[in-house]
Amino acid sequence: MLEVRDPADVRSVVAEVPAMTAAEVTAAYDRARAAFDGWRRANPLDRAAVLGRAADLIRARAEDGAVILVRENGKTLAEARVEVTKTADFLDYYASFARQPWGELLSDARPGTSTSVRVEPVGVVLAICPWNDPLITPARKLGPALIAGNAVLLKAASQTPSIAIWAARLLSEAGLPADVLQVVTGRNGEISGALLASPDAVTFTGSNEVGALLRRTLAARNVRLQAELGGKNVSVVLADADLDLAASVVVNAAFAQAGQRCTATSRLIVDVSAAAAFESRLRDAIAGIVVGPGLDPATTMGPLAYAAHRDGVLGHVERARREGGAVVAGGGRPAAGALAHGCYVEPTLVNVAPGQSLWRDEVFGPVLAVATADGFDQAVRLANDTVYGLSAAVFTTSLTAANEFINLAEAGQVAVNLPTAGWDVHHPFGGFRESGSAFKEQGAPGLRFYTRIKTAAVRFAW
Ligand code: NAP
Repeated sequence: MLEVRDPADVRSVVAEVPAMTAAEVTAAYDRARAAFDGWRRANPLDRAAVLGRAADLIRARAEDGAVILVRENGKTLAEARVEVTKTADFLDYYASFARQPWGELLSDARPGTSTSVRVEPVGVVLAICPWNDPLITPARKLGPALIAGNAVLLKAASQTPSIAIWAARLLSEAGLPADVLQVVTGRNGEISGALLASPDAVTFTGSNEVGALLRRTLAARNVRLQAELGGKNVSVVLADADLDLAASVVVNAAFAQAGQRCTATSRLIVDVSAAAAFESRLRDAIAGIVVGPGLDPATTMGPLAYAAHRDGVLGHVERARREGGAVVAGGGRPAAGALAHGCYVEPTLVNVAPGQSLWRDEVFGPVLAVATADGFDQAVRLANDTVYGLSAAVFTTSLTAANEFINLAEAGQVAVNLPTAGWDVHHPFGGFRESGSAFKEQGAPGLRFYTRIKTAAVRFAW
């Protein structure tokens, strides 16, 4: 069995799930193939009805799901409720595609002939998900995969498996045929080989290291891979920005979910003329953050998801100190008794020089690296000074600067006077550079990965 511990108090075991064997994973693929055969032939409107009923069930039992999320992942109840609601939105949104065209008719020079473009499911999809948004990440993959007629093996993160099992049960209750969706839990050393042995497509959200391993393994077999990987998202505050607006938006973008959002702001570039005024606003806003257990209604920032991750995040801060970074807020673990057994890290602000590790490396925690720039051009150069390209934001009152920033930012998502996070289910989503792959998630483009195109010519008359 795999034990799941409460990040707010690691002495408490909140769930136990099976540690599957490689043979069990292989058997799950066999069942998925058989189930795919029926599901792909189901009327798309019937597939949509299943997704719609599942969305209704998720909304009806939202509080159960939110509490599971908090107990496994540590985020606040308010954050967990948003995740549950958005999960239902994903299923509803992709259900609506059953009423959209699934192909097109093309003219054909041959007499009596009509050629059509048909859109088919790809087969059995392996969806590998991380622990940071452990309900919504599966949902953004399951919505398009299932409406298109695929079967799915969902590999849940070992820190957060119960919420994936909860969602799968509700889909089953909504009428999803047996084995069209199966949740896999287990240790990578045991099941990775079997997991990667026979999918028709792999959609992965997680680290660049595992993404690179998947790319190598799957490319050799020509298995398509969608990868949503790391980030070092930037917010840029130009000299003409509304500093009050920018400070409240940036603090939320950096510290919501304790910085464990793929789109969290982790680098901040402030025009040098506004740097002192902006730092004081940031410090005030950070002072208002209440760190504590996610189930406490007073808490506005929960613990990190697990102890080793907390230690890794604190290690990044220590290294920043050694390299000359100035920690101007936070930087440690809250020592108070009630929080002593949790995976807490204080919201942390570090002034760095571009080039230092904290400027370059993904931390995935509540740590914001801040640098200054002299004018728009330098700010854009610094914003793009990263191997990643997930999300970028600019704060300005100039339409020209806003438009120029959108043009120049090397990021799949760009926001103006808004957070780097917060994209909706119908907004195409995915990173540039080492943050992603050619396939977008969400929105209409999200269906492309889960479908293949067959061109069919039919001669009706001769
Ligand atoms: P991770 O270590 O790559 O794990 C992600 C998933 O991959 C987990 O389910 C993990 O299972 C599984 N996995 C690990 N090694 C595997 C292997 N050899 N074979 C098959 N599966 C394997 O990532 P993480 O640390 O959990 O997640 C944080 C990362 O995700 C960050 O880099 C973050 O930026 C990224 N992320 C990106 C996005 C985006 O949209 N771009 C969104 C969210 C998160 P176990 O849990 O059992 O190890």
